[in-house]
Amino acid sequence: MRFYAVFGNPINHSKSPFLHNFIFERLKIDARYVRFCLQDARDFREIFFKCGFSGANITVPFKEAVLESCDEIDTIARKIGAINTIIRRDSALFGYNTDAIGFYKSLADSIAIKNIKNALIIGAGGSARAIAFILKEHNIAVKVINRSESRLEFFNAEGFGCESFSAFKKCDKFDAIINATSSSINDTLPLESAVLERCFQDAKIAIDLMYGKKCKFLELAKKHKINAIDGTKMLLYQAIEASNLFCEKKIPYKNIEKSAFEAYKNLMC
Ligand code: NDP
Repeated sequence: MRFYAVFGNPINHSKSPFLHNFIFERLKIDARYVRFCLQDARDFREIFFKCGFSGANITVPFKEAVLESCDEIDTIARKIGAINTIIRRDSALFGYNTDAIGFYKSLADSIAIKNIKNALIIGAGGSARAIAFILKEHNIAVKVINRSESRLEFFNAEGFGCESFSAFKKCDKFDAIINATSSSINDTLPLESAVLERCFQDAKIAIDLMYGKKCKFLELAKKHKINAIDGTKMLLYQAIEASNLFCEKKIPYKNIEKSAFEAYKNLMC
């Protein structure tokens, strides 16, 4: 039997074990998927090998730091500078990023992409990098704002417009407002509500990457009668891509997709 895990901190909220175990069972793959609460990214590699894992997902707050533990990084993940999926091949670790495609597919499910010309990303962590990258690929103008300035350096260097929260006073018009911070895990708003309300006034869609519980960000967005979606669909799509990698593409993609959608339906019940 092969073992996989999602590494993060906090980790109890993660629904990845449910999705991946459902897929393994449906596709008769002899594997189990567990949660692992990691304290320090520097310990990742040793823990991974000691526990005999065959692959992993990486979540908040380690997507950038664990990249250093990989022997090889996929081209897209290298551009993004963050990984969320790792595959062990012999004694080498290969890092991938499936968040970018996962986010894009979930966005495309919710709104006609041609209606999104520009987006505001709140947050500058690993998932914000993936989202900024994929939106830029699709010619959507991106502005990134973050609480701490240091994390904006990457976005500055990549040519994205960026500002710290303290500098972000006036709001330009954005079609999509994306909360890519982990504020909703702690049931707080990422920004002052007055600033957010100004953003929502002109927006067509608000997305919070958090899933599985009500969050203040989306509740506020709903007051402005805009499309408000959480991160469940992103979780689904990034998991399909990760599962395809876990299976080393030996199982037809459409079979993985079918069982993942079945798991998703159960998750939403
Ligand atoms: P990181 O730890 O890499 O980044 C966290 C970001 O959130 C940083 O920009 C940090 O700012 C900011 N932040 C944290 N707390 C607050 C707060 N209270 N107020 C304002 N900003 C805050 O996390 P990830 O990018 O990996 O993940 C972010 C969120 O997205 C998590 O909730 C995660 O669960 C979710 N996610 C969901 C996915 C899905 O499939 N649905 C996929 C990926 C992520 P600073 O730099 O100032 O510390």
